[in-house]
Amino acid sequence: AAGLVAGKKALILGVANKRSIAWGIAQALHAGGAELAFNYQNERLRENVEELARSLGPDVPIYPCDVTRPAEIDALFASLEERWGRLDVLVHSLAYAPREALDGAFVDTRPEDWDTALQISAYSLVAVARRARPLMQRAGGGSIFTMTYLGSERAVQGYNVMGVAKAALEATVRYLAADLGPDGIRVNAISAGPIKTLAAMGVKGFSNILKVMEERAPLRRNVTQEDIGGAGLFLASDLSRGITGTVLFVDAGYHIMGV
Ligand code: NAD
Repeated sequence: AAGLVAGKKALILGVANKRSIAWGIAQALHAGGAELAFNYQNERLRENVEELARSLGPDVPIYPCDVTRPAEIDALFASLEERWGRLDVLVHSLAYAPREALDGAFVDTRPEDWDTALQISAYSLVAVARRARPLMQRAGGGSIFTMTYLGSERAVQGYNVMGVAKAALEATVRYLAADLGPDGIRVNAISAGPIKTLAAMGVKGFSNILKVMEERAPLRRNVTQEDIGGAGLFLASDLSRGITGTVLFVDAGYHIMGV
């Protein structure tokens, strides 16, 4: 990894704790030589994120940003502009659906829960990409990537409206890639196999999903934070310079299997 992203400035959105996928990506980018900045969603998560950021170095900035608050997104990018003047990498690793929408049957999804899930899990990528664009133009291009899941294209029990949100997110990746490509800005998604994180615990039957993965995936194992980190490092680096608008599966091959 050494030097793969040396000198690149990367903003990582979505660290809640050390199990977060965003933290796995952060560690890989740090090892590759990138300079990092983080957000934290709210005061409750601040201390966690502060401590993790400090473990990477004394001067790794963290900024408050709940993506449902446009003023906080504006403030975050204004701070980055002041600090770095440019941006090379943007990692979007966040999602949310109200618990009621995940507990019940999909057919009972309420319109307000649908809106919340799609706003936070899909629209937020548009919101941050729009603010990142001028900073990436100044860097002569950039790499944006987000985290998705197979529930976007298959009906995974318990994933419910989150699957619809991930379908929207993947379409968003394609439209953003088409829009921003002329500026040298690449936009991709990593479709991760299941990993036990805070967000994953909201999905009913999650431990069963982990078990089935291990039994049926070609590699006969679950993926790790480090597996996703490696793919993130690749997408952040110039090694992936010809790749945009794509969904890269990091799932031990599970998605290719039939019955
Ligand atoms: P996580 O709970 O560690 O991270 C989710 C993050 O979303 C948290 O940091 C949380 O603060 C943030 N978030 C939620 N609402 C927000 C808001 N309004 N504003 C700002 N931030 C907000 O869980 P994770 O599994 O690391 O999730 C990261 C991403 O990976 C999500 O998009 C998730 O859907 C995706 N993903 C996870 C898995 C898995 O099995 N864990 C598999 C595929 C994809």
